[in-house]
Amino acid sequence: MSTVVKGLSDILSGGTEWITFEENKPKILLFLDWYENLVGIREHYEPSLNPKYVRCPGKDICPLCQANPGKYPALRIKFRVYDPTDNKVKMVSLAKTHIQKLNQEFNLDEIDPTKAFVTIHRTGKGASDTSYSAREYKKGDYALPNMEDLDVPDITPQITAHTPEEITGFMNAMIAGVAGNTGNGNTGAGTPQDSGTSQQGNSGASRGRSLPF
Ligand SMILES: [Zn+2]
Repeated sequence: MSTVVKGLSDILSGGTEWITFEENKPKILLFLDWYENLVGIREHYEPSLNPKYVRCPGKDICPLCQANPGKYPALRIKFRVYDPTDNKVKMVSLAKTHIQKLNQEFNLDEIDPTKAFVTIHRTGKGASDTSYSAREYKKGDYALPNMEDLDVPDITPQITAHTPEEITGFMNAMIAGVAGNTGNGNTGAGTPQDSGTSQQGNSGASRGRSLPF
């Protein structure tokens, strides 16, 4: 595997390109991981943190779980796919219910998504109304890739939990950003500005209330 990362977007994303499914834009893919190669990990979604997705090391030691015991991290399944439209291997992250649905459709249609191209359709936009469906891609205008020619990213970093120390660092960086914003309004250090935080007073108590976790 190559140790070189090329291109601005690849460098900024750590060399990992994620597939984003959108309504009415079906994706043609070949699955590299499926069946016994699938791996799931519990993940917190905290839009105010950088990164937004925090892989949970377990509720006994996880600072986010401890800060908000009622907010459970969701199980996300991570796998690699080949995108024939630009000849690249990319990552997918889906909830277990969506994996179940895709698996059902592959089974009904007797498709092996690791052996043939499939088309994945998304319907819905939000977390609650989103559904996926899969069909075999029958047009036949893409050739199966030669696996040895592909630059296949290592999946290990995507399925390894963040350490409690890393998570504390993300939370502290966010708190520092909020404190900066509260102080003079524009030293957020890149932290996306939540509405309301800059209206809060300067006391620790009000800063605490404005934190999402
Ligand atoms: Zn956690």
